[in-house]
Amino acid sequence: MFANGLTYLAIPGPSVMPDRVLRAMHRAAPNIYTGELHDVTRSLFPDLKAVAGTRHEVAIYIGNGHGVWEAALSNILSDGDTVLVLATGRFCVGWGEMAEGLGASVETIDFGDNDAVDLTQVEAVLKADTAGRIKAVLTVLVDTSTGVLNDVKGIRAAIDNAGHGALLMCDAIASLGCDEYHMDDWGVDITVAASQKGLMTPPGIGFVWFNDKADAVRETIGRVSKYWDWRPRVAGDEYWKFFDGTAPTHHLYGLREALDMIKDEGLQNVWARHDGLAHAVWAAIDVWSADGPMQINVADPAARSRAITSLRLDEGQGDALRAWCEDNMGVTLGIGLGRSPASAFFRIGHMGHVNGHMVMGFLGTIDAGLKALGIPHGAGALEAASQVLADLTRAGGTKPRGAQADQAVDQCCG
Ligand SMILES: *Cc1c(COP(=O)(O)O)cnc(C)c1O
Repeated sequence: MFANGLTYLAIPGPSVMPDRVLRAMHRAAPNIYTGELHDVTRSLFPDLKAVAGTRHEVAIYIGNGHGVWEAALSNILSDGDTVLVLATGRFCVGWGEMAEGLGASVETIDFGDNDAVDLTQVEAVLKADTAGRIKAVLTVLVDTSTGVLNDVKGIRAAIDNAGHGALLMCDAIASLGCDEYHMDDWGVDITVAASQKGLMTPPGIGFVWFNDKADAVRETIGRVSKYWDWRPRVAGDEYWKFFDGTAPTHHLYGLREALDMIKDEGLQNVWARHDGLAHAVWAAIDVWSADGPMQINVADPAARSRAITSLRLDEGQGDALRAWCEDNMGVTLGIGLGRSPASAFFRIGHMGHVNGHMVMGFLGTIDAGLKALGIPHGAGALEAASQVLADLTRAGGTKPRGAQADQAVDQCCG
């Protein structure tokens, strides 16, 4: 009934595409052999490294998140290798299944759908692996099915405390450029991400960042699929290093603009914006949940992503609310991916090109939906959310939550 007008795709990826990015992509096909496109592509590498917090290498691929999952694994796995999957939802499990398809055996520690990785368990499992069979530990920064945020730095400490030599591989697809991330400082050997979430560019290109330790493993494996091999993609200054075949021309222009937007705002401020907006979302949810069936998926705020929130209602109500919000208000919420009963769950993407009025808009939409559908809920959620935003502006702007934020901003945008 009230859906016509500017719509809002509030799902956890693809995220809202900024007009600046769309305009940068709206152009004739460029010459792929020489000229401006090469300069643009070359310029992406340092900024991609800064966003991930690494001084090491980054390879760009045509492919989505699943593509770079395979790219990363293809550079370190030989038949019969073992990887350890730290499951905090559907996504890390999916990465493990891909490793299995590439010939690895997969061990999984399942931490359930509501909690972050328990570091003591990781340390114990690695300590027990005295033969050093586990070649890599696979984790997600944020699991997009559950909204769980993992302590990646702590996972590295657990590996080190166990005296284990495994590579640490982190899927930061959901929230790179939203949740704070420091690849080098946290001791991550391989990071993967894709264009369409915090990086605000349409789906279609992905990235693998890798350090020297990871590349040394690449050196020892017998064969690497030619397309996924990361070496030619970082070597020299040949055009063909970037893309084995035709370049993803328009994505490169779009990404250039998106990275400029992050630089303009400052990475530290981007994180702080996501942090403040997430606190407003949580404040609303606290009030709604005080009465009725709503529950936030992750009880501990320290283990919640700032980019995506997963919620549940009673069976059928998640689906009903999503349909109501889309049909009546022009807001599309995310499905209850990988959860049971899926129809109870829904997710909100608040990643990338999102600001205060957009968050107040989807919160108001959900509030109206709960009323329209007769789903019991606590009253006053919007007041609670607006109070959070008001307080944060009064305090002189939202504060970054991480101690390393200043350093990261120097690296990225100084
Ligand atoms: C979105 C996402 C993926 C999958 O990315 P696709 O581009 O859909 O293949 C993998 N892992 C995480 C954590 C994600 O959020």
